[in-house]
Amino acid sequence: MYKSFWAAIIFVLGLVIFSAGFQIAKKDSTSVNEAKIRAELVENFRHFNDGWFDGDLSQNTRIMYYNMGPDFAIGDMTSDGAGQFTIFINSYYDRNPREAEFTEFHEMCHEAIALRGNEFEEHGPAWQGCMHRLANAGAFENLW
Ligand SMILES: [Zn+2]
Repeated sequence: MYKSFWAAIIFVLGLVIFSAGFQIAKKDSTSVNEAKIRAELVENFRHFNDGWFDGDLSQNTRIMYYNMGPDFAIGDMTSDGAGQFTIFINSYYDRNPREAEFTEFHEMCHEAIALRGNEFEEHGPAWQGCMHRLANAGAFENLW
């Protein structure tokens, strides 16, 4: 009785430790992948800014890429009003680098428009003009 009691305790403890380890491993593999894609997006931002936006966007723009869940948009661009822009790219929807990159362009156009301060309609003519200009110049080759 005593022996089987301890055997049961050890068995349950083993299960708990095993599943905890499995959860940690699962979480790590996701975050490692997200960190890698985020690093690419940070790098992209510098290249895209120089190559497609004449370096007009803020070099201090923060690029966030992580799982924001289904209730958050695919992407978002925020400004604190003091020149700090943050681009959010939701890995819940943008699971691979190409999708994330396309969203990044989308948000970079929002930043370009915000810097000019001449449009308050989110996807109005100025934003569409930015996207059309990029498309015509070939920025989206291989992305769509
Ligand atoms: Zn948008």
